[in-house]
Amino acid sequence: MNAPVKPSHLIKGATGEWEMVIGIEVHAQVTSNAKLFSGASTAFGGDPNSHVSLVDAAMPGMLPVINEECVRQAVRTGLGLNARINLRSVFDRKNYFYPDLPQGYQISQYKSPIVGEGEVVVDLADGTSFVVGIERLHLEQDAGKSLHDQHADMSAIDLNRSGVALMEIVSRPDMRSSEQARAYVTKLRTILRYLGTCDGDMEKGNLRADVNVSVRQPGEPFGTRCEIKNVNSIRFIGQAIEYEARRQIGILEDGGSIDQETRLFDPDKGETRAMRSKEEAHDYRYFPDPDLLPLEFSQSFVDALKTGLPELPDQKKQRFIADLGLTPYDATVLVSEHESANFYESVLAGLANARRDGKVAANWVINELFGRLNKEGVSIEASPVSASQLAAIIDLIGEGTISGKIAKDLFEIVWTEGGDPRVLVEARGMRQVTDMGAIEKVVDDIVAANPDKAAQVRDKPQMIGWFVGQVMKASGGKVNPQAVNELLKTRLGL
Ligand code: ADP
Ligand code: MG
Repeated sequence: MNAPVKPSHLIKGATGEWEMVIGIEVHAQVTSNAKLFSGASTAFGGDPNSHVSLVDAAMPGMLPVINEECVRQAVRTGLGLNARINLRSVFDRKNYFYPDLPQGYQISQYKSPIVGEGEVVVDLADGTSFVVGIERLHLEQDAGKSLHDQHADMSAIDLNRSGVALMEIVSRPDMRSSEQARAYVTKLRTILRYLGTCDGDMEKGNLRADVNVSVRQPGEPFGTRCEIKNVNSIRFIGQAIEYEARRQIGILEDGGSIDQETRLFDPDKGETRAMRSKEEAHDYRYFPDPDLLPLEFSQSFVDALKTGLPELPDQKKQRFIADLGLTPYDATVLVSEHESANFYESVLAGLANARRDGKVAANWVINELFGRLNKEGVSIEASPVSASQLAAIIDLIGEGTISGKIAKDLFEIVWTEGGDPRVLVEARGMRQVTDMGAIEKVVDDIVAANPDKAAQVRDKPQMIGWFVGQVMKASGGKVNPQAVNELLKTRLGL
């Protein structure tokens, strides 16, 4: 089902063309009040070490207890990724030393993850879609944080994050360009936000990506990959991939070979740097955590969670297209952020005839509102024009009280001054002129004042546009252009 690789996805090297192969491991912090195996708070921004239980600090004899809400969140996420849910999964210890890992191991899932294979439909800017396979999703603990800027000659440790639940979501190597990779992470984040299982806040580190990149000549088997760790913005993901692919092509074209290694992306320099090679890679000595029984739940537990899932972006998009006649592009734009979709649906709820005006409403939300919000750098939550105000403006157009042109003026007034659009239309005399006699008079005046053009228009019928423009201008945009057009045709003998 993958979209065929377009020629533009190939990179031109000195010896020929190359294709990138990309697979991504996303770490997503589970939205939950308490940590994965303790009751300590997951709140962001507390004083260092203020959200740390004895379990999180790995005091001797402390036992982990699984947080059922984190399990629900992982299952919900698996369902949202159309993935297989494993009714039995196992927590393993992944052993390594790090100062901010007090246990000396991370509790993770290795051979038996809670979620198996799934897929994500990814939308590209040109309106096409492709599918990225999901290999697995597993639950694991986050580590603490080393602070190197507190003392001149010491490092400090903050364990607030220690033990917070993460979902590691591993994709198949199904992406072939940096654009596809960015679109994948964007879509995955959207799905998580709709589900309410991760807030997707990359600035806070609540969603971060390990990006695996290799290159090959078209038709060849996969090349050796490098893994770029902990990339924390969508833009950086794109930059890291572009740099890394070209670095690898350069080496291969010089007759060298790629060492499988872990690399870091340096956003200031826009380049990736080696961190450790496969030879130095840890042997984690995974083994099932003896303090935790295998995690088992019933199919009815899964089914209940499935019933409770919200409408997800793909379903919403299909509904907007089928029920309201939106274009796939408009529907994609509206569902791409949960807040945008919610706003649009609030507008629909406020319309007198949503089925008729849903498409017009989509245009207004995307072009007028989003356009303006972007320009002014305002978020949709802080929009000066509310959904009900916008619905009223669209109703006024739909019922013929104002023209589309006047509606833009009205939008401007509501944006800057606020107020009830219906009241404003009356108070400021913005109603469309519906008195045909009045319109006829304006039309007749314009035709009479321009006899030469009236003569020309019989040979050049497209000149009627000029007349319509004159009438609209003379009436301050308050007449219906359709009616003017009809009248002009009669008067000019077209
Ligand atoms: P590991 O266990 O070492 O992390 P995995 O097989 O789990 O290795 O792969 C990790 C990630 O690397 C996955 O997202 C996968 O899609 C991706 N990947 C695997 N092979 C390649 C390759 N040749 N090129 C790019 N990405 C790859
Ligand atoms: Mg891995």
